Amino acid sequence: MEILDGRKISNQIKDEIAAQVAKMKERGEKVPHLAAVLVGNDGASLTYVGSKVKACERVGFESTLVRMPNTTSELELLNKIKELNNDDDIDGFIVQLPLPKQIDTQKVLMAVDPEKDVDGFHPMNFGKMALDMSTFIPATPFGILELLERYEVETKGKNTVVIGRSHIVGRPMSILMGRKGFPGNSTVTLTHSHTRDLKDITRNADIVITALGQPEFLKADMVKDGVVVIDVGITRVPDETAKKGYRIAGDVDFDEVSKKASYITPVPGGVGPMTIAMLLKNTLLARERHRAVKAGK
Ligand code: NDP
Repeated sequence: MEILDGRKISNQIKDEIAAQVAKMKERGEKVPHLAAVLVGNDGASLTYVGSKVKACERVGFESTLVRMPNTTSELELLNKIKELNNDDDIDGFIVQLPLPKQIDTQKVLMAVDPEKDVDGFHPMNFGKMALDMSTFIPATPFGILELLERYEVETKGKNTVVIGRSHIVGRPMSILMGRKGFPGNSTVTLTHSHTRDLKDITRNADIVITALGQPEFLKADMVKDGVVVIDVGITRVPDETAKKGYRIAGDVDFDEVSKKASYITPVPGGVGPMTIAMLLKNTLLARERHRAVKAGK
């Protein structure tokens, strides 16, 4: 069994990006600038946004954190997005989800300029992804592809089962694993809460990608020997012995399942750090595209 070490690979990617940023600086070029909009005080969201800002510093990007109160109206947020869309200095930005109840998430994501949509959530970018066109691939699925690629995990002709069909993880993942090329060329089954006899489906899978948010859901009797397991789940589980009062759990019963797996991602230290690295990669891509547009290429 080999661990797909997201922490290690994400550090390699960050080093690669930092080297590119250093070259940009040497040439006197503007460095990539990522902004993150955080509405409210949700603890997990604060942690995620904090990690993203820290990662920007690590690679030499500029970053801006826009904090708005929990009572922010939809119009106020849409106005802020307009401002960021029109700000030439910002190459890409993200709106941290979830948003407070009074705000329509879809409306907000639609308002982001597709050229600055480094999360890849805008329908135009999602459509391009589905059509194999060059675009911003949502960071979590992009990170999973990168892990599979760097560990040279064979995906061609394999049965891949994705558990969870969210717009940000499960659904794009299912599209990407089924597309032509590597990683890809898999035969994909996308499952969800209405799927019947899930265990029969996962037992036939060569690759299982769990993105449902249910701690230790995938058990050893649900997988076959040699399976590749990618665990996207991140859930805070109360734990009195932990300093923070909780621990982070994935969707996979790691101790059990790892005994049968050929490759497996740990939680933490698997998909999570890759997501941040790929957000940086998308921001670098956004900067390069903006430069090319300005240069009239
Ligand atoms: P959502 O909550 O949006 O979606 C969960 C999906 O799982 C739904 O499609 C749901 O089905 C399905 N599901 C729920 N229960 C079952 C079940 N018993 N059997 C089969 N399918 C089920 O999830 P997200 O994609 O946003 O997040 C999933 C997990 O990944 C969370 O723990 C989240 O924190 C984590 N995450 C981690 C990231 C990272 O960087 N590592 C990034 C993003 C998310 P239905 O559609 O029928 O309701």
